[in-house]
Amino acid sequence: MRYFIYNTTNSCNNKSSLEITENAESVAARYPVRLSDYYAGLIRVPDDPIWKQCIPDARELEDADQSPDPLEEETLSPVPGLIHRYPDRVVLLVSNRCPVYCRFCMRKRLVGSGDAPMTEAALQKALEYIAAHSAIHDVILSGGDPLMLDDASLSRILTGLRKIAHVAIIRIGTRVPVTLPARITSDLCSLLKKFHPLYVNTHFNHPAEITADSTAACALLADAGIPLGNQTVLLKGVNDSVEIMRDLMIGLLSIRVKPYYLHQMDLVRGTSHFRTSVRAGLEILRGLRGHISGMAVPQYVIDLPGGKGKVAILPDDFQVEGSILTIRTYTGELVTYQDITDLQE
Ligand SMILES: *Cc1c(COP(=O)(O)O)cnc(C)c1O
Ligand code: SF4
Repeated sequence: MRYFIYNTTNSCNNKSSLEITENAESVAARYPVRLSDYYAGLIRVPDDPIWKQCIPDARELEDADQSPDPLEEETLSPVPGLIHRYPDRVVLLVSNRCPVYCRFCMRKRLVGSGDAPMTEAALQKALEYIAAHSAIHDVILSGGDPLMLDDASLSRILTGLRKIAHVAIIRIGTRVPVTLPARITSDLCSLLKKFHPLYVNTHFNHPAEITADSTAACALLADAGIPLGNQTVLLKGVNDSVEIMRDLMIGLLSIRVKPYYLHQMDLVRGTSHFRTSVRAGLEILRGLRGHISGMAVPQYVIDLPGGKGKVAILPDDFQVEGSILTIRTYTGELVTYQDITDLQE
């Protein structure tokens, strides 16, 4: 068995907790381990989809030839904690903590190490940079998890951003509704709604994460007028089937979360046991489009190495010959379409 052995114990307050009992130290020393009681409580049996996402695995240490930062976020960082890859939008890494350290995290190199929120000085430097670059219209708070900050710290960051007139949109990327839904309080929502237009992109990977608690957390956010999107990572053994992905995407829509991206696993060191082929991802996408509400279909994206950006890819579903397109429908039928406009030009 490749997995480290954990004991699931039930203490008297009925919270489940997981305890490292056997040599997980070598993995944990390299990549921090952390579970919220809530998320650990979603594990039903060892090796289930929740377990796989949060329990360390010896294979995390096996792909040392991969880069820890293939997207070259460090190179694209003009000031510490800020990633500026696209002209009009930046990512601000405001916290390196999360309620759960996901074993597939693309920022494995950073999360949990040193447990350091962005310092006040670093925040000021980042705000100055954003203020000095008027092309930046969209600021994405990320980390780690921004909602691990207390309300006062969040308020300070958001107030700082809202003083910059050219910042039109603020986004928060967070897995807290999934891993620590109790953090989504009405106080937090009252605070966030002062900074509209503010979007939250959350991160559900499996239908088992859609619970009464995560549903309530999303409802609080949505009721504060915050549009909710979702980014799912395609994970081998967790959600790499059409059936699971359909359930997840439909389930998200029904809790008022709009699927946004389905990510091909980045080529990040320590995550290769989660990676599926792109072909498998395209087959899953083919199993979604047309079969379920178009509202529920995310874009399947590859974040290209070298910081080249995210590119959405689609199954190869049409061929062009002159002005005639042969298009494959969702049921597999081939239909020809005459591009009349093309003939007229
Ligand atoms: C993903 C990402 C963004 C946002 O991309 P969108 O396609 O607009 O969601 C911006 N900057 C960096 C560095 C990113 O990785
Ligand atoms: S919550 Fe997000 S940032 Fe934190 S460990 Fe999981 S994937 Fe990484």
